[in-house]
Amino acid sequence: MKIAIYSNLGESSNNVATALKKEIDKSSMLSIDGLNPEMVISVGGDGTLLSAFHHYQDISDRIRLVGIHTGHLGFYTDWRDYEVSELVDSLEHDNGQSVTYPLLDIRVNYASGGFADKGLALNESTLKQINGTMVADLYIKNQLFESFRGDGLCVSTPSGSTAYNKSVGGAIINPLLNAIQVAEISSINNRVFRTLGSPLIIAPDEWVKVVLKSAGRTILTCDQQVVSTDPIASIEYRISKHRVAFAQYRHTQFWRRVSNSFIGRPKIDD
Ligand code: NAD
Repeated sequence: MKIAIYSNLGESSNNVATALKKEIDKSSMLSIDGLNPEMVISVGGDGTLLSAFHHYQDISDRIRLVGIHTGHLGFYTDWRDYEVSELVDSLEHDNGQSVTYPLLDIRVNYASGGFADKGLALNESTLKQINGTMVADLYIKNQLFESFRGDGLCVSTPSGSTAYNKSVGGAIINPLLNAIQVAEISSINNRVFRTLGSPLIIAPDEWVKVVLKSAGRTILTCDQQVVSTDPIASIEYRISKHRVAFAQYRHTQFWRRVSNSFIGRPKIDD
């Protein structure tokens, strides 16, 4: 099996990446291939795994991801830094076991015209206005749903629902569900302006279109990256036809992971 190691620059991650490479080099069944891997092992935290996903995005249909965390427990990182040998053993006994999660498809039309810009998010995309109130019409499919006023909108995948989405009051969605979620960022609600005020969960045959009405400066993000600060006319968000695949050598039940991370004690048994 061809393996790429994608590590952050921290000292502990570097040490783990070096140890991992040594173990892989010793194996007759595994080899390092950073260009055309079948398995991508990220070493670091959730941010490193997000970067690894985007680095290999063009071949995402052909790869599986595994995360080793060198800090505290991450959402995408199942293995601890001291478990390198165990992971290599699992890679040698791999029989293709994987779990796949939905991705968010982003299509941006800029105010200047031209071709639409396309993107794929593992966690979420946010659109925020940094000066004045963002005013935008929100369509579901082709129907106007509401006129939004506020700081911005966060559109997330189920596996990203525990990230930014959670901070803005979105629901946590089990990534086994094929859905995307729209959450408001500081909406203005009074007798004059009104939005739904709660997160929306969109079904697979639906899409969301955000049509900008205000002319302030916006920031469009995709996971950890700022995609653009150029004026935007509209954005369409839908569930991607692509999915992200993780090697599933061990399984931390989703709600147990949520409970461990946010409540602090394991409360739900596998
Ligand atoms: P970062 O270093 O600012 O990390 C933000 C935190 O988000 C880290 O603790 C990371 O472990 C956590 N995180 C990332 N993905 C997660 C997920 N799917 N579920 C639960 N926690 C998750 O930035 P980074 O590490 O490069 O990660 C980028 C992500 O940070 C973005 O995709 C966004 O979700 C998140 N973020 C959150 C806020 C917020 O909550 N207000 C603001 C900006 C970015």
